[in-house]
Amino acid sequence: MKVSDIAAIADIAREHHCLVLVDNTFLSPYFQKPLTLGADVVIHSGTKYLGGHNDVLSGFVITPAGDIAERLKYIYKTTGSGLSPMDSWLVLRGMKTLALRMEQHQKNALAIAHWLKTQKKVQEVFYIGLEDRKDRELILRQCTGFGGMISFRVDSFETVKQVLSAVKLIRFAESLGGVETLITFPMSQTHAEVPEEIREGLGITDTLLRLSVGIENADDLIADLDQALNGK
Ligand SMILES: *Cc1c(COP(=O)(O)O)cnc(C)c1O
Repeated sequence: MKVSDIAAIADIAREHHCLVLVDNTFLSPYFQKPLTLGADVVIHSGTKYLGGHNDVLSGFVITPAGDIAERLKYIYKTTGSGLSPMDSWLVLRGMKTLALRMEQHQKNALAIAHWLKTQKKVQEVFYIGLEDRKDRELILRQCTGFGGMISFRVDSFETVKQVLSAVKLIRFAESLGGVETLITFPMSQTHAEVPEEIREGLGITDTLLRLSVGIENADDLIADLDQALNGK
């Protein structure tokens, strides 16, 4: 949930004749357009918000630069990673509701982030839509919305275990960007491969949880988190 200044990075990179690649998966093109901020190449996991329904694996590489596009096309053609017709159709169908879903993901995420901030067992909430962030100005300049990804730190590993075993509507599973809300334990899931020192340095500890907030009713999601966190 740290935010990089894409335009500033692109300026530095241009000076040194380097290319800038942005993984725009978390915000999707609906909320952030890195090419207009100076990036050379944008990548998306289409598995996440673009597909949007946790039922297809896909990816996108986008560039306005003809020479890079030619090279990518060549690699793509020779390695044979083309998407099957059914998978292509699922992603195309998913993208038709991208705007609607992103708005709802964000609405729910804002409600949950604000609620989490009021909880005794929650020590820190990381969400780019929170009004009191130090980098608020950069966020508002760079993207038009905040998406549905939240992470938060709880008071102990005991609380982590309790939450993960008690959630009912929310599912304890990896991945993100689908209509269903998923909760992840980054230390042993998404970042299990990262060496401990680096992982701890990034703040990915045994008290950090991640939510991919879905499009369900926000009150239901908060009620589920409440019973899981507070044993209600
Ligand atoms: C999941 C993810 C990827 C990898 O995408 P797959 O579709 O799972 O191969 C890359 N970047 C980000 C930010 C992701 O969340």
